[in-house]
Amino acid sequence: MYKILGKTLLVAVLSTLASLLISFAFVPLMGGEVAGAGLVMTIVCPIVISIPASFVHFYLAEKLRSANTALAAAKDELSVAYARLQHQAQRDALTGLLNRATFMAELAARSDAGIHGGLLFLDLDHFKSVNDRFGHATGDEALARVGGLLSELALEGDLVGRLGGEEFAIFLHAASTERMLDHAQTIREAVEAIDLIAPSGQRIPLGISIGAFHCAPRFDPAEALAASDRNLYRAKSAGRNTVVA
Ligand code: GH3
Ligand code: MG
Ligand code: MG
Repeated sequence: MYKILGKTLLVAVLSTLASLLISFAFVPLMGGEVAGAGLVMTIVCPIVISIPASFVHFYLAEKLRSANTALAAAKDELSVAYARLQHQAQRDALTGLLNRATFMAELAARSDAGIHGGLLFLDLDHFKSVNDRFGHATGDEALARVGGLLSELALEGDLVGRLGGEEFAIFLHAASTERMLDHAQTIREAVEAIDLIAPSGQRIPLGISIGAFHCAPRFDPAEALAASDRNLYRAKSAGRNTVVA
């Protein structure tokens, strides 16, 4: 407010000086004299007109500036919230991995870009009995631990998703068949080594079956996933906790 009053007074002083300058420059040329009531009006008029006019102007300008600042802050908050929502919409809440729709969309994008790689379809073994024996919360913890592990083992550019339930999928970006099989075995061993402890203190052994399929450039995403799923079925039939390519 002090700033507005200061600026208003400055405009009043400048207007009065301008009024005096104009009067003293032109009135004598017109044969008159700046004195008496004329001089008073030369001083009073600019003051009376400029003070309310410039006060309203500076007050509204200040309000507009604050509104613009608030608007910019709200816009920033909105972009942050939008980015967070977009991230949440693409992720599975329990594991933080890509959800099924996003995984499939990203897989299709890799295929469109002509990228080859290894596709793994993973399914935890006898997971229903983990829930049945140790409770759903412990089952959730197992899923979260497995999800964390899959993320940790992935390299930059790999896709890791939770397709649903206790099923996961991984696309190993530009991976050779050898890296695909090594990675699958590493995951299998790491899942086996997870120290999941039940509320009773008992260690819960986990196993995972993995179906692997090597995708050539321009692969069909749905067909590739179906092929890795067939290999997963073979891994289950072969006794579980194993990798089939
Ligand atoms: P298999 O070795 O043949 O894969 O047997 P499985 O018991 O793992 O497979 P099944 O399809 O019979 O059971 C999957 C179980 O996964 C059933 C369900 O209770 C559990 N499950 C699915 N989603 C969740 C979840 O979000 N949290 C928990 N805790 N359990 C889940
Ligand atoms: Mg399953
Ligand atoms: Mg299972």
